[in-house]
Amino acid sequence: MITVGLHEIIEREYRACGFSAAGTVAFVPLEEERQRFAGWMAKGYGADMGYLGRSAEYRHDLRRLFPGVKSVAVTLTSYRRPPEIRQPEGVPRIARFAWGNDYHDILKRNLRRLLEAIRSYDGFGDVQGRPVVDSAPAFERAWGVRAGLGWIGRSSMLVSPALGSFTLIGLLLLDAPLPDGFVAPEPVPDGCGNCRRCMEACPTRAIVSPHVVNAGRCISYQTIERRGTVEEAIRPVLDGRIFGCDRCMEVCPYNDRPGLPTMPANAGLEAVADRMNITAEEWRKMAPADFAERFAGSPLLRAGLSKIKGLL
Ligand code: SF4
Ligand code: SF4
Repeated sequence: MITVGLHEIIEREYRACGFSAAGTVAFVPLEEERQRFAGWMAKGYGADMGYLGRSAEYRHDLRRLFPGVKSVAVTLTSYRRPPEIRQPEGVPRIARFAWGNDYHDILKRNLRRLLEAIRSYDGFGDVQGRPVVDSAPAFERAWGVRAGLGWIGRSSMLVSPALGSFTLIGLLLLDAPLPDGFVAPEPVPDGCGNCRRCMEACPTRAIVSPHVVNAGRCISYQTIERRGTVEEAIRPVLDGRIFGCDRCMEVCPYNDRPGLPTMPANAGLEAVADRMNITAEEWRKMAPADFAERFAGSPLLRAGLSKIKGLL
């Protein structure tokens, strides 16, 4: 017998599954986002990420990923760490999300935990679900807004008033509906105000207008996604970055407020010191077998050792 709504179960269970926040919304196709994305691609801002364009017809309609979807649990996982966990001064810099193991599998595991928790409730034993963590195309940030978890900042990142923007978004697509009378979460008001710090601080001026990033100019794309090495025009402003860039988030006032919660202890995203403390000299000398061993499970494997060495 059902005595509790799906959204209430998710509210009760998300913390035990390693998440910092969660919200639940009914599924709808995201037509406005589809049009905005098509316009962004048409301007060439997707650079050579042709796979983004190929997924355009999937992204707005989650039924393409999971035909029975009726509701979407949207989760945020903060990867803010205590201040003593940081890279030493002067070593080649790695974006914070990559200090631990690749988050895709970890978040999917946590989302499966959440599904199991839902199934343990009376009346929900048969619920089917699919975890989605940005390897499967979906408009995660738009779902974060719909779930009342934050607003899209000028940086184009989802900014949570409670957590800031060093967060990872995971979706759990569910074939169970929300109960009759469910009231959708209140939208979070845009908190950017007159601030433009992210746009002004971006080393490559990749945020071409509020909420619009030209991926081709973004250091994250150049150092992580781009096939081959980083373009010559970008190299002078890398400033020691070898994998990703946190600049637009580092300057955001919502990431610099006292009392912001850190990463949940049960999230599974611990930083690996042995990968964060490597000097340029050590990187230059690193053999492929050593790289493969030290970075097993790390997203840096995606870039590869030769691309990293080429940036030192
Ligand atoms: S990640 Fe770095 S390069 Fe990309 S938009 Fe942000 S500040 Fe600019
Ligand atoms: S830096 Fe300022 S403008 Fe950019 S996302 Fe943060 S609050 Fe908004």
